[in-house]
Amino acid sequence: MALSHEEIIRRVRRWQDAGIVHPLTCGNDAQHHPNLEPEMRDGQVVLACRAPGCTYVQHWIPECILSDATEEQLAASHGVMDLPQAPQ
Ligand SMILES: [Zn+2]
Repeated sequence: MALSHEEIIRRVRRWQDAGIVHPLTCGNDAQHHPNLEPEMRDGQVVLACRAPGCTYVQHWIPECILSDATEEQLAASHGVMDLPQAPQ
């Protein structure tokens, strides 16, 4: 597998923004810190926490995030569906 850095970042963003799967969160404070953001560091894509004063960085990106599955396939394989709101 040889994804470009841009493609890795795109796929991580898609995962984090999908709202249908559990996003990657900070290892220091998953409750109060924002979801991890992909960034380039030392020529590698890492997942970093952007909370003020927090230095949490995760170098490992789960394989499932880097798959080329569609959002529907992600939802199906993880069993978490984003159900549409019922009309008012
Ligand atoms: Zn953090």
